[in-house]
Amino acid sequence: MMPTITVVGAGFSGLATAYFLTKHGFKVRIIEKTDRAGGLIRTLRTEHGLVETAANGLLSSARLEAMCADIAVPLIATRREAHKRFIYRGKPKQLPLRAGDLIGLSRRFAVNAVKLRPRPFETISAWGMRVLGRGATDYLLIPALGGIYAGDPDRLSASLIFGKANVPDYLHTNRPAKGKLRGTVSPPNGMQQLIDGLRDYLKTAGAEFMFSHDEKASTRQPMVVCLSASAAAKHLGEIGPEISNALRQIEMLSLATVTCFYGPDAAKLNGFGCLFPRNQGFRSRGVLFNTSIFEGRGPAHAETWIFGGALDAEVVNLSDEAFAEIIVAERQRFYGRHDEVLDVRITRWPNALPHYTVELENILTTLPPPPENIALVGNYLGRIGLAKILERAAVVADQVRTACGPGSPSGQPAWGGGCGRASQ
Ligand SMILES: Cc1cc2nc3c(=O)[nH]c(=O)nc-3n(C[C@H](O)[C@H](O)[C@H](O)COP(=O)(O)OP(=O)(O)OC[C@H]3O[C@@H](n4cnc5c(N)ncnc54)[C@H](O)[C@@H]3O)c2cc1C
Repeated sequence: MMPTITVVGAGFSGLATAYFLTKHGFKVRIIEKTDRAGGLIRTLRTEHGLVETAANGLLSSARLEAMCADIAVPLIATRREAHKRFIYRGKPKQLPLRAGDLIGLSRRFAVNAVKLRPRPFETISAWGMRVLGRGATDYLLIPALGGIYAGDPDRLSASLIFGKANVPDYLHTNRPAKGKLRGTVSPPNGMQQLIDGLRDYLKTAGAEFMFSHDEKASTRQPMVVCLSASAAAKHLGEIGPEISNALRQIEMLSLATVTCFYGPDAAKLNGFGCLFPRNQGFRSRGVLFNTSIFEGRGPAHAETWIFGGALDAEVVNLSDEAFAEIIVAERQRFYGRHDEVLDVRITRWPNALPHYTVELENILTTLPPPPENIALVGNYLGRIGLAKILERAAVVADQVRTACGPGSPSGQPAWGGGCGRASQ
């Protein structure tokens, strides 16, 4: 008989893992500490339009499109105007490099053609200066990665970010295959629609959800741990002290998102958003032009300002009034005028994301295997975005099937470090 698999955590990682396990014919039990599915992902519907509290979309892939077709969740691509992305250098620019930067960049590429691969434990700043030169590092690479990883460029690991770190096979993730849609996608009603679609599909397929439930890990249960690094460290404390200690060392970053709605005559720039290099004097890391990104995000004009990360950890302690004041000042600088705000929604995420540092590279490349019958899925395993988490969930579900699905050697569950290695 197929064993029941416990999935711990009902964020995107847990729901995606439960989906693939269900597809392989396993009975799945999903344990979630809070009273809702989604974890960091949540969409609020207000009279002025949608608010995404964290992810506003995910990169399209063949696997995502197949899953969404199966669970009857439609996906939309970004609007045409969202193909424009800006970086601030005195003003918002699509190409923030000067002629000298471009000439230097092309010379360096010619010289460095065979040395692009990051060295082990090389930081993003060091890699950028070695390969791209100062202009492209300061005004392209660091702001672009800051928008995704929110990290300290002098500590971010180039190998982890470019997927070249020497992580053990049991942390393996496939590279997503391209889908029909290109770039960032989202369900029309926001990311919560994807979460709700997965949850409803799983319930109909017989998965058991246990909300408001916090259970200690036990060695007897075949289990996939789909938590943040810090929560996984805590959860595995008793049965896997070695891996738990390693995961406990992973530094977590705090972020805040502030979505502001404005009337139809407010200043706006059409595009995906604008990133702010550190030396341009903005406290925000960047702003997303929500109503320009996807259809149907209004009726009002909406922008999401993003704060925090490694170089501004204290920002999550700011009051609502302080955030409002900062946005008024930064918007005045950005657009050169002031607009009356209709509504503001602030979300503070203390310890939300893993810091992709060279220390994390060291932790992952030396991570002890998880205890037998336990596998890990999460955004700290070398891939931070949702499209890559989906790939990892599929790999782990395949490992579980190989170990204890029909035709497995003993019919008994046995995976984790050893099994993962064997199944690659
Ligand atoms: C501001 C922000 C913007 C982002 N934007 C994007 C984006 O545009 N695109 C993109 O691809 N990614 C984006 N991300 C990253 C992405 O949202 C996350 O990596 C992803 O949602 C993490 O999902 P998860 O399921 O691994 O973790 P989580 O969402 O943290 O879910 C973990 C779940 O486990 C539960 N839990 C914790 N402890 C226990 C326990 N002991 N027992 C049971 N349950 C437990 C939690 O309550 C939670 O529901 C963004 C993140 C942030 C913070």
